[in-house]
Amino acid sequence: MEAGDIDALAEALSTGDRRALARGITLVESTAPRHRPAARALLSQLTARADARAAARRIGLSGTPGVGKSSFIEALGSRLIAQGHRVAVLAVDPSSSRSGGSILGDKTRMETLARAPQAFVRPSPAGRTLGGVARRTREAIALVEAAGYDVVLVETVGVGQSETAVAEMTDVFCLLLAPGGGDELQGVKRGIMEIADIVVINKADGAMKRAAEATQADYQGALSLLRRRAGDPEGFPKALTASAMTGDGLDTVWQALTTLDDWRRDRGWRDERRQAQALTWFRQSLERGLVERLARDVGLARQLEVAEAAVAAGRETPDACAERIVAALRIALAGADVDADDDAHAGQD
Ligand code: GDP
Repeated sequence: MEAGDIDALAEALSTGDRRALARGITLVESTAPRHRPAARALLSQLTARADARAAARRIGLSGTPGVGKSSFIEALGSRLIAQGHRVAVLAVDPSSSRSGGSILGDKTRMETLARAPQAFVRPSPAGRTLGGVARRTREAIALVEAAGYDVVLVETVGVGQSETAVAEMTDVFCLLLAPGGGDELQGVKRGIMEIADIVVINKADGAMKRAAEATQADYQGALSLLRRRAGDPEGFPKALTASAMTGDGLDTVWQALTTLDDWRRDRGWRDERRQAQALTWFRQSLERGLVERLARDVGLARQLEVAEAAVAAGRETPDACAERIVAALRIALAGADVDADDDAHAGQD
Protein backbone atom coordinates (compact mmCIF):
# COMPACT_ATOMS: atom_id res chain seq x y z
CA MET A 1 0.00 0.00 0.00
CA GLU A 2 1.35 3.44 -1.00
CA ALA A 3 1.90 6.25 1.49
CA GLY A 4 -0.90 8.25 -0.14
CA ASP A 5 -3.30 5.34 0.33
CA ILE A 6 -2.44 5.19 4.02
CA ASP A 7 -3.10 8.93 4.36
CA ALA A 8 -6.46 8.52 2.68
CA LEU A 9 -7.32 5.49 4.79
CA ALA A 10 -6.36 7.27 8.02
CA GLU A 11 -8.40 10.30 6.98
CA ALA A 12 -11.50 8.25 6.11
CA LEU A 13 -11.14 6.16 9.22
CA SER A 14 -10.96 9.15 11.53
CA THR A 15 -14.16 10.58 10.05
CA GLY A 16 -15.86 7.38 11.23
CA ASP A 17 -16.15 5.69 7.82
CA ARG A 18 -17.01 2.10 8.72
CA ARG A 19 -15.61 0.59 5.55
CA ALA A 20 -12.33 2.35 6.13
CA LEU A 21 -12.35 1.07 9.71
CA ALA A 22 -13.00 -2.49 8.54
CA ARG A 23 -10.20 -2.17 5.98
CA GLY A 24 -7.85 -0.76 8.60
CA ILE A 25 -8.58 -3.61 10.99
CA THR A 26 -8.08 -6.16 8.23
CA LEU A 27 -4.70 -4.55 7.58
CA VAL A 28 -3.53 -4.65 11.21
CA GLU A 29 -4.89 -8.17 11.64
CA SER A 30 -2.98 -9.50 8.67
CA THR A 31 -0.38 -12.06 9.61
CA ALA A 32 1.50 -11.46 6.34
CA PRO A 33 4.81 -9.72 7.10
CA ARG A 34 4.50 -7.64 3.91
CA HIS A 35 1.42 -5.89 5.36
CA ARG A 36 3.17 -4.81 8.56
CA PRO A 37 4.85 -1.62 7.29
CA ALA A 38 1.51 -0.26 6.05
CA ALA A 39 -0.20 -1.34 9.29
CA ARG A 40 2.47 0.43 11.32
CA ALA A 41 2.22 3.56 9.22
CA LEU A 42 -1.55 3.64 9.66
CA LEU A 43 -1.32 3.18 13.44
CA SER A 44 1.35 5.88 13.72
CA GLN A 45 -0.74 8.33 11.73
CA LEU A 46 -3.81 7.67 13.83
CA THR A 47 -1.87 7.90 17.08
CA ALA A 48 -0.57 11.29 15.98
CA ARG A 49 -4.07 12.61 15.44
CA ALA A 50 -5.96 10.77 18.17
CA ASP A 51 -7.22 13.25 20.70
CA ALA A 52 -10.57 11.55 21.23
CA ARG A 53 -8.71 8.55 22.57
CA ALA A 54 -8.79 9.45 26.24
CA ALA A 55 -12.57 9.67 26.07
CA ALA A 56 -13.20 6.02 25.19
CA ARG A 57 -14.01 3.51 27.87
CA ARG A 58 -12.21 0.21 27.44
CA ILE A 59 -14.11 -2.56 29.15
CA GLY A 60 -13.03 -6.19 29.34
CA LEU A 61 -15.69 -8.87 29.61
CA SER A 62 -15.18 -12.55 30.24
CA GLY A 63 -17.20 -15.63 31.04
CA THR A 64 -17.37 -19.30 30.15
CA PRO A 65 -19.28 -20.36 27.03
CA GLY A 66 -23.04 -20.31 27.54
CA VAL A 67 -23.02 -17.85 30.42
CA GLY A 68 -24.62 -15.27 28.14
CA LYS A 69 -21.79 -13.00 27.01
CA SER A 70 -23.15 -12.31 23.56
CA SER A 71 -26.72 -11.84 24.86
CA PHE A 72 -25.37 -9.49 27.53
CA ILE A 73 -23.31 -7.43 25.10
CA GLU A 74 -26.20 -7.31 22.66
CA ALA A 75 -28.58 -6.07 25.37
CA LEU A 76 -26.18 -3.65 27.05
CA GLY A 77 -24.78 -2.40 23.74
CA SER A 78 -28.29 -1.74 22.38
CA ARG A 79 -29.07 0.38 25.44
CA LEU A 80 -25.86 2.29 25.10
CA ILE A 81 -26.39 3.16 21.46
CA ALA A 82 -29.93 4.26 22.30
CA GLN A 83 -28.30 6.67 24.76
CA GLY A 84 -26.10 8.07 22.01
CA HIS A 85 -22.95 6.05 22.56
CA ARG A 86 -20.98 4.46 19.77
CA VAL A 87 -20.08 0.92 20.76
CA ALA A 88 -17.33 -1.30 19.38
CA VAL A 89 -17.14 -4.99 20.29
CA LEU A 90 -13.87 -6.83 19.79
CA ALA A 91 -12.87 -10.33 20.83
CA VAL A 92 -9.80 -12.13 22.02
CA ASP A 93 -10.05 -15.84 21.39
CA PRO A 94 -6.83 -17.63 20.62
CA SER A 95 -8.67 -20.95 20.59
CA SER A 96 -10.70 -19.95 17.55
CA SER A 97 -7.96 -20.85 15.13
CA ARG A 98 -7.79 -24.32 16.58
CA SER A 99 -11.50 -25.00 16.73
CA GLY A 100 -12.02 -23.38 13.36
CA GLY A 101 -14.78 -21.23 14.79
CA SER A 102 -14.68 -17.85 16.39
CA ILE A 103 -16.49 -16.55 19.42
CA LEU A 104 -17.76 -13.68 17.33
CA GLY A 105 -17.68 -15.46 14.01
CA ASP A 106 -21.18 -16.79 14.28
CA LYS A 107 -23.39 -14.35 12.41
CA THR A 108 -26.35 -14.93 14.70
CA ARG A 109 -24.47 -13.54 17.69
CA MET A 110 -25.33 -9.93 18.52
CA GLU A 111 -27.63 -9.62 15.56
CA THR A 112 -29.12 -6.24 16.40
CA LEU A 113 -25.85 -4.70 17.45
CA ALA A 114 -24.01 -6.00 14.41
CA ARG A 115 -26.54 -4.27 12.16
CA ALA A 116 -26.72 -0.98 14.06
CA PRO A 117 -24.87 1.91 12.41
CA GLN A 118 -23.65 3.15 15.81
CA ALA A 119 -22.05 -0.18 16.65
CA PHE A 120 -19.15 -2.10 15.24
CA VAL A 121 -18.80 -5.81 15.95
CA ARG A 122 -15.63 -7.53 14.94
CA PRO A 123 -14.91 -11.26 15.25
CA SER A 124 -11.75 -12.46 16.91
CA PRO A 125 -8.71 -12.27 14.65
CA ALA A 126 -7.19 -15.56 13.61
CA GLY A 127 -3.85 -16.48 15.08
CA ARG A 128 -1.89 -19.25 16.62
CA THR A 129 -0.59 -17.49 19.68
CA LEU A 130 -2.36 -15.49 22.34
CA GLY A 131 0.37 -12.86 22.04
CA GLY A 132 -0.30 -12.41 18.35
CA VAL A 133 -4.06 -12.29 18.77
CA ALA A 134 -3.70 -9.86 21.69
CA ARG A 135 -1.49 -7.52 19.68
CA ARG A 136 -3.97 -7.42 16.84
CA THR A 137 -6.85 -6.75 19.24
CA ARG A 138 -4.91 -3.90 20.88
CA GLU A 139 -4.31 -2.38 17.49
CA ALA A 140 -7.98 -2.80 16.63
CA ILE A 141 -8.80 -0.88 19.85
CA ALA A 142 -6.63 2.01 18.62
CA LEU A 143 -8.47 1.95 15.30
CA VAL A 144 -12.02 1.89 16.67
CA GLU A 145 -11.15 4.71 19.04
CA ALA A 146 -9.72 6.75 16.19
CA ALA A 147 -13.00 6.10 14.35
CA GLY A 148 -14.89 7.71 17.24
CA TYR A 149 -16.27 4.76 19.20
CA ASP A 150 -16.52 5.84 22.81
CA VAL A 151 -17.25 2.45 24.35
CA VAL A 152 -14.98 -0.46 23.51
CA LEU A 153 -16.03 -3.87 24.83
CA VAL A 154 -13.36 -6.54 24.58
CA GLU A 155 -14.81 -9.98 25.04
CA THR A 156 -13.05 -13.22 25.82
CA VAL A 157 -14.04 -16.76 26.77
CA GLY A 158 -12.94 -17.95 30.16
CA VAL A 159 -10.11 -20.10 28.96
CA GLY A 160 -6.41 -19.99 29.69
CA GLN A 161 -4.58 -16.71 29.86
CA SER A 162 -6.86 -14.69 27.64
CA GLU A 163 -8.47 -12.86 30.60
CA THR A 164 -5.14 -11.52 31.69
CA ALA A 165 -4.42 -10.41 28.14
CA VAL A 166 -7.77 -8.62 28.03
CA ALA A 167 -7.29 -7.06 31.46
CA GLU A 168 -3.98 -5.73 30.15
CA MET A 169 -5.66 -3.88 27.32
CA THR A 170 -8.71 -2.49 29.13
CA ASP A 171 -9.50 -0.12 32.02
CA VAL A 172 -12.12 -2.12 33.89
CA PHE A 173 -12.83 -5.83 33.88
CA CYS A 174 -16.20 -7.52 34.19
CA LEU A 175 -16.71 -11.24 34.79
CA LEU A 176 -20.01 -12.86 33.86
CA LEU A 177 -21.25 -15.87 35.82
CA ALA A 178 -24.39 -17.99 35.77
CA PRO A 179 -26.62 -18.51 38.84
CA GLY A 180 -25.61 -21.32 41.22
CA GLY A 181 -22.33 -23.12 41.52
CA GLY A 182 -19.00 -21.74 42.61
CA ASP A 183 -16.45 -20.40 40.15
CA GLU A 184 -14.71 -23.75 40.03
CA LEU A 185 -17.93 -25.46 39.05
CA GLN A 186 -18.40 -22.83 36.37
CA GLY A 187 -14.95 -23.47 34.98
CA VAL A 188 -13.61 -20.07 35.99
CA LYS A 189 -9.85 -20.21 36.23
CA ARG A 190 -8.10 -19.28 39.39
CA GLY A 191 -6.85 -15.73 39.47
CA ILE A 192 -9.68 -14.33 37.40
CA MET A 193 -11.60 -13.38 40.50
CA GLU A 194 -8.63 -11.22 41.47
CA ILE A 195 -8.71 -9.24 38.27
CA ALA A 196 -12.50 -8.81 38.16
CA ASP A 197 -13.70 -5.33 39.11
CA ILE A 198 -17.34 -6.31 38.70
CA VAL A 199 -18.84 -9.80 38.81
CA VAL A 200 -22.23 -10.06 37.14
CA ILE A 201 -24.51 -13.00 37.83
CA ASN A 202 -26.43 -13.13 34.56
CA LYS A 203 -29.75 -14.92 33.90
CA ALA A 204 -31.29 -13.41 37.04
CA ASP A 205 -34.80 -13.95 35.70
CA GLY A 206 -37.76 -16.34 36.03
CA ALA A 207 -36.99 -19.51 37.93
CA MET A 208 -33.30 -18.61 38.21
CA LYS A 209 -33.77 -15.22 39.87
CA ARG A 210 -33.56 -16.55 43.41
CA ALA A 211 -30.50 -18.65 42.71
CA ALA A 212 -28.86 -15.66 41.01
CA GLU A 213 -29.43 -13.51 44.10
CA ALA A 214 -27.96 -16.18 46.35
CA THR A 215 -24.93 -16.51 44.08
CA GLN A 216 -24.52 -12.75 44.07
CA ALA A 217 -24.55 -12.67 47.89
CA ASP A 218 -21.91 -15.43 47.99
CA TYR A 219 -19.66 -13.56 45.59
CA GLN A 220 -20.15 -10.24 47.30
CA GLY A 221 -18.97 -11.96 50.48
CA ALA A 222 -16.00 -13.54 48.77
CA LEU A 223 -15.02 -10.31 47.00
CA SER A 224 -15.15 -8.29 50.19
CA LEU A 225 -12.47 -10.60 51.57
CA LEU A 226 -10.21 -9.80 48.65
CA ARG A 227 -8.05 -6.80 49.11
CA ARG A 228 -9.60 -3.70 47.61
CA ARG A 229 -7.48 -2.42 44.75
CA ALA A 230 -5.44 0.50 46.01
CA GLY A 231 -7.57 3.60 46.06
CA ASP A 232 -10.71 2.15 44.45
CA PRO A 233 -13.97 3.49 45.85
CA GLU A 234 -15.89 1.79 48.64
CA GLY A 235 -17.85 -1.26 47.49
CA PHE A 236 -15.49 -2.43 44.73
CA PRO A 237 -14.90 -5.10 43.53
CA LYS A 238 -18.65 -5.59 43.34
CA ALA A 239 -21.07 -8.43 42.60
CA LEU A 240 -24.36 -7.65 40.84
CA THR A 241 -27.22 -9.54 39.22
CA ALA A 242 -28.57 -8.88 35.74
CA SER A 243 -30.63 -10.44 33.01
CA ALA A 244 -29.59 -10.05 29.42
CA MET A 245 -33.01 -11.46 28.55
CA THR A 246 -35.26 -9.01 30.44
CA GLY A 247 -32.77 -6.16 30.69
CA ASP A 248 -33.09 -6.04 34.50
CA GLY A 249 -29.95 -4.86 36.22
CA LEU A 250 -28.16 -3.75 33.06
CA ASP A 251 -28.37 -0.07 33.97
CA THR A 252 -26.95 -0.82 37.41
CA VAL A 253 -24.07 -2.76 35.88
CA TRP A 254 -23.33 0.10 33.50
CA GLN A 255 -23.50 2.59 36.35
CA ALA A 256 -21.04 0.54 38.39
CA LEU A 257 -18.66 0.24 35.44
CA THR A 258 -18.72 3.96 34.73
CA THR A 259 -18.49 4.95 38.39
CA LEU A 260 -15.31 2.94 38.78
CA ASP A 261 -13.87 4.04 35.44
CA ASP A 262 -14.59 7.73 36.15
CA TRP A 263 -13.14 7.45 39.63
CA ARG A 264 -9.89 6.05 38.31
CA ARG A 265 -9.82 8.49 35.41
CA ASP A 266 -10.39 11.53 37.64
CA ARG A 267 -7.47 10.53 39.83
CA GLY A 268 -5.15 9.98 36.91
CA TRP A 269 -4.96 6.23 37.51
CA ARG A 270 -6.52 5.31 34.22
CA ASP A 271 -3.80 7.21 32.39
CA GLU A 272 -1.14 5.67 34.60
CA ARG A 273 -2.48 2.22 33.86
CA ARG A 274 -2.58 2.92 30.13
CA GLN A 275 0.98 4.19 30.22
CA ALA A 276 2.14 1.05 32.02
CA GLN A 277 0.24 -1.08 29.48
CA ALA A 278 1.86 0.79 26.59
CA LEU A 279 5.30 0.20 28.05
CA THR A 280 4.61 -3.50 28.51
CA TRP A 281 3.48 -3.79 24.88
CA PHE A 282 6.51 -1.90 23.71
CA ARG A 283 8.80 -4.33 25.52
CA GLN A 284 6.86 -7.30 24.18
CA SER A 285 7.12 -5.91 20.65
CA LEU A 286 10.80 -5.32 21.10
CA GLU A 287 11.37 -8.88 22.32
CA ARG A 288 9.28 -10.28 19.52
CA GLY A 289 11.14 -8.16 16.99
CA LEU A 290 14.48 -9.42 18.24
CA VAL A 291 13.38 -13.04 18.20
CA GLU A 292 11.94 -12.64 14.70
CA ARG A 293 15.22 -11.06 13.60
CA LEU A 294 17.06 -14.10 14.93
CA ALA A 295 14.74 -16.49 13.16
CA ARG A 296 15.09 -14.64 9.82
CA ASP A 297 18.85 -15.05 9.73
CA VAL A 298 19.77 -18.64 8.85
CA GLY A 299 23.11 -18.51 10.67
CA LEU A 300 21.59 -17.00 13.81
CA ALA A 301 18.65 -19.39 13.75
CA ARG A 302 21.12 -22.26 13.63
CA GLN A 303 23.10 -20.84 16.55
CA LEU A 304 19.84 -20.45 18.46
CA GLU A 305 18.97 -24.10 17.87
CA VAL A 306 22.39 -25.21 19.04
CA ALA A 307 22.11 -23.02 22.13
CA GLU A 308 18.64 -24.35 22.94
CA ALA A 309 19.86 -27.92 22.68
CA ALA A 310 22.83 -27.15 24.93
CA VAL A 311 20.61 -25.49 27.52
CA ALA A 312 18.04 -28.30 27.44
CA ALA A 313 20.77 -30.90 27.87
CA GLY A 314 22.25 -28.98 30.76
CA ARG A 315 25.59 -28.61 28.99
CA GLU A 316 25.54 -24.84 29.21
CA THR A 317 23.79 -22.29 31.37
CA PRO A 318 20.81 -20.37 29.94
CA ASP A 319 22.45 -17.09 30.80
CA ALA A 320 25.73 -17.84 29.03
CA CYS A 321 23.90 -19.02 25.92
CA ALA A 322 21.66 -15.96 25.89
CA GLU A 323 24.74 -13.74 26.15
CA ARG A 324 26.35 -15.51 23.20
CA ILE A 325 23.24 -15.13 21.05
CA VAL A 326 23.01 -11.42 21.92
CA ALA A 327 26.66 -10.98 20.88
CA ALA A 328 26.00 -12.82 17.60
CA LEU A 329 22.94 -10.68 17.00
CA ARG A 330 24.98 -7.52 17.52
CA ILE A 331 27.50 -8.62 14.94
CA ALA A 332 24.71 -9.53 12.52
CA LEU A 333 23.03 -6.15 13.02
CA ALA A 334 26.30 -4.30 12.48
CA GLY A 335 26.69 -6.26 9.23
CA ALA A 336 23.13 -5.33 8.26
CA ASP A 337 23.99 -1.64 8.80
CA VAL A 338 26.88 -1.93 6.40
CA ASP A 339 24.57 -3.62 3.87
CA ALA A 340 22.01 -0.87 4.32
CA ASP A 341 24.69 1.81 3.83
CA ASP A 342 25.85 0.06 0.68
CA ASP A 343 22.25 0.00 -0.56
CA ALA A 344 21.83 3.68 0.26
CA HIS A 345 24.97 4.58 -1.67
CA ALA A 346 23.95 2.35 -4.52
CA GLY A 347 20.63 4.19 -4.54
CA GLN A 348 22.35 7.57 -4.71
CA ASP A 349 24.67 6.56 -7.49
P1 GDP B 1 -22.13 -16.98 25.46
O1 GDP B 1 -21.68 -18.30 24.95
O2 GDP B 1 -21.52 -16.66 26.78
O3 GDP B 1 -21.95 -15.87 24.47
O4 GDP B 1 -23.69 -17.11 25.75
P2 GDP B 1 -24.97 -16.72 24.86
O5 GDP B 1 -25.20 -15.27 24.89
O6 GDP B 1 -24.84 -17.36 23.52
O7 GDP B 1 -26.12 -17.40 25.69
C1 GDP B 1 -26.17 -18.77 25.98
C2 GDP B 1 -27.61 -19.19 26.27
O8 GDP B 1 -28.07 -18.54 27.45
C3 GDP B 1 -28.58 -18.79 25.17
O9 GDP B 1 -29.51 -19.82 25.01
C4 GDP B 1 -29.23 -17.55 25.70
O10 GDP B 1 -30.52 -17.38 25.19
C5 GDP B 1 -29.26 -17.81 27.20
N1 GDP B 1 -29.23 -16.56 27.96
C6 GDP B 1 -28.33 -15.55 27.83
N2 GDP B 1 -28.61 -14.57 28.70
C7 GDP B 1 -29.71 -14.95 29.39
C8 GDP B 1 -30.49 -14.36 30.44
O11 GDP B 1 -30.22 -13.25 30.92
N3 GDP B 1 -31.52 -15.10 30.92
C9 GDP B 1 -31.84 -16.32 30.44
N4 GDP B 1 -32.88 -16.94 30.97
N5 GDP B 1 -31.13 -16.90 29.45
C10 GDP B 1 -30.10 -16.22 28.93
